[in-house]
Amino acid sequence: RRVLLEESATNLKSKSGKVPVGLRGKRKRILVTGGAGFVGSHLVDRLIERGDSVIVIDNFFTGRKENLFHHFGNPNFELIRHDVVQPILLEVDQIYHLACPASPVHYKFNPVKTIKTNVVGTLNMLGLAKRVGARFLLTSTSEVYGDPLQHPQAETYWGNVNPIGVRSCYDEGKRTAETLTMDYHRGAGIEVRIARIFNTYGPRMCLDDGRVVSNFVAQALRKEPLTVYGDGKQTRSFQYVSDLVEGLMKLMEGDHVGPFNLGNPGEFTMLELAQVVQETIDPNAKIEYRPNTEDDPHKRKPDISRAKELLGWEPLVPLRKGLPLMVSDFRQRIFGDSKDATA
Ligand code: NAD
Ligand code: UDP
Ligand code: UDP
Repeated sequence: RRVLLEESATNLKSKSGKVPVGLRGKRKRILVTGGAGFVGSHLVDRLIERGDSVIVIDNFFTGRKENLFHHFGNPNFELIRHDVVQPILLEVDQIYHLACPASPVHYKFNPVKTIKTNVVGTLNMLGLAKRVGARFLLTSTSEVYGDPLQHPQAETYWGNVNPIGVRSCYDEGKRTAETLTMDYHRGAGIEVRIARIFNTYGPRMCLDDGRVVSNFVAQALRKEPLTVYGDGKQTRSFQYVSDLVEGLMKLMEGDHVGPFNLGNPGEFTMLELAQVVQETIDPNAKIEYRPNTEDDPHKRKPDISRAKELLGWEPLVPLRKGLPLMVSDFRQRIFGDSKDATA
């Protein structure tokens, strides 16, 4: 396999060792792994809009072709069914590495696969970045802080993570992915960027992915009770997807490696979130308590001073503004009410 990779890399270079001029235009060639997913598809929209040439690789575990249908037929867009755990040869200038299930329900479904995706998948994408000299951005997560003992969480905090728990495949997987990213940066001189993303919501989230915002919105629309896990006093900070995409692009184009927290500091208990959903969709929606999941972090809120200062970025969409945009998309997908479509 290594011989094949090396041969193909050599084939693309002229005798002088330079990439042929015809292969390098002004348009950036950008790889988005996991681009058929929730965040990835919104990122692809912005990159295509900017005039870039985009390749998506996705194994469709949680992503959907529907999220990208509107780009089919565009010569600047290419979709490849591929699992990042396997090596792949491509020629690109930048890599946004998102491939990994993000919902706890999805990443716990096959934990060994999750950790392989995070470790072997990230290794492969870093190997690709090294071979072609591409800049590499890792979408890490606030979960690297585990059940945090520091509040709010700054990037300097090393976290409080259970290495053998049911969430570890994701938390430790992403921590290892960060380590690999920094080691390729230090050891192979690759240009890298690390984003630590906090809970993000918006149109195109999987309807039944088990995350709290998608659950509450779908439940309220279907006139089912909102399922609050535990006592509902645990907190999260919810970021609208367009703010995240803006932050990812600023990070990629900027001069700083990171890690950078990308999240909205507006902090809500799950009961407060349920209340906002009631106000937005159905004031009569009932609340039903369920036992909480294992190792659930008690609180989470990003300190975004570093991103504000060095990237000139901060979120613009508060929960009460972003939620209705997501509700329109969910309503359309649940009831097929096309007049409400937003995405
Ligand atoms: P998502 O599940 O909607 O998207 C992930 C995409 O990756 C899907 O299209 C899926 O099919 C694909 N994928 C998964 N495993 C793969 C593999 N082995 N090979 C190829 N493709 C694979 O999740 P999302 O919310 O869009 O998250 C995107 C990234 O952002 C993830 O890396 C996630 O860890 C990170 N993140 C998201 C959040 C959030 O709140 N949405 C928070 C923190 C971090
Ligand atoms: N890799 C890849 N595409 C490439 C280059 C490398 O998928 O264009 C994979 C490769 O198969 C390897 C990993 O990335 O498993 C790390 O590559 P690297 O060259 O850093 O390490 P090595 O192959 O020497 O172990
Ligand atoms: N949660 C909830 N009801 C649900 C789904 C989740 O109360 O229907 C809680 C969950 O226990 C956690 C919080 O909401 O405390 C956020 O969970 P989510 O799965 O959205 O994200 P993560 O735990 O990864 O932050």
